[in-house]
Amino acid sequence: MGKLEGKVGVITGGASGIGLATARKFVAEGAKVVIGDLPQSNGQAIADELGGLFVAVDVTNKDQVENLFAQAKATYGRIDIAFNNAGISPASDDSILKTDIEAWNLVQNVNLTSVYYCCKAVLPYMMEQGSGSIINTASFVALMGAATSQISYTASKGGVLAMTRELGVQFAGKGIRVNALCPGPVNTPLLQELFAKDPERAARRLVHIPMGRFAEPEELANAVAFLGSDESSFITATEFLVDGGLSHAYVTPLESDWID
Ligand code: NAD
Repeated sequence: MGKLEGKVGVITGGASGIGLATARKFVAEGAKVVIGDLPQSNGQAIADELGGLFVAVDVTNKDQVENLFAQAKATYGRIDIAFNNAGISPASDDSILKTDIEAWNLVQNVNLTSVYYCCKAVLPYMMEQGSGSIINTASFVALMGAATSQISYTASKGGVLAMTRELGVQFAGKGIRVNALCPGPVNTPLLQELFAKDPERAARRLVHIPMGRFAEPEELANAVAFLGSDESSFITATEFLVDGGLSHAYVTPLESDWID
């Protein structure tokens, strides 16, 4: 029996990268999935493949977010897991000296305000059930500064982490857990796009990861399935790091540093 047997999970940004890998993992573990993604995404094909539901949503739109969770509840009768994961990292978001207010606002809306909309929409369903697990995607940059700055992205992820902690504390007594997933760099279209546009800047990230590689989306999906399952029943309000040691490394090892 899978660890998510009988559970229903809603995943924003479920048509690509970490969200897609998580949708596949959820189904493999016995859950029903609702994929929320942009209308032009391939979310419908993925939902068909997984026997789930696709709901077209722009997560910056409050009404569309409410509709996403209402459709999930109407179709499957409950919502056990909300993986609020959709996010962007556009090239226009750069050093604070180069980033204009339009780029700032775009990233804040997609990465941070969306998480506020999603949590606000799903909490009443979970309170009615007296149970639920919310996982909000933050990032390692919520915890550390980078000289290769994406100022609005970093600020948005710091906001996601702080909001998550507060919700985790506030709703613990209602049987609802709220955790922030903090990935290190992951091999997804989001990172590949950054590589394509600015290979030098992207490559600078790699040298700081003790494991010497980026994560694969499936490695994040495993963590999300754990946080969504009852196996993590005493875990809430955390910054759940899945970063290959990145955020706790002072220097990364060379082969000559390995001790046999
Ligand atoms: P991705 O680009 O592969 O997938 C993101 C998905 O979000 C896409 O399917 C896209 O269509 C969807 N999306 C974008 N804007 C949307 C909107 N307005 N409404 C609905 N859906 C929208 O990216 P990914 O790497 O899988 O990223 C997922 C999350 O992980 C993001 O929040 C990202 O910031 C975070 N993250 C990624 C990395 C990394 O290195 N890839 C590292 C840390 C955190």
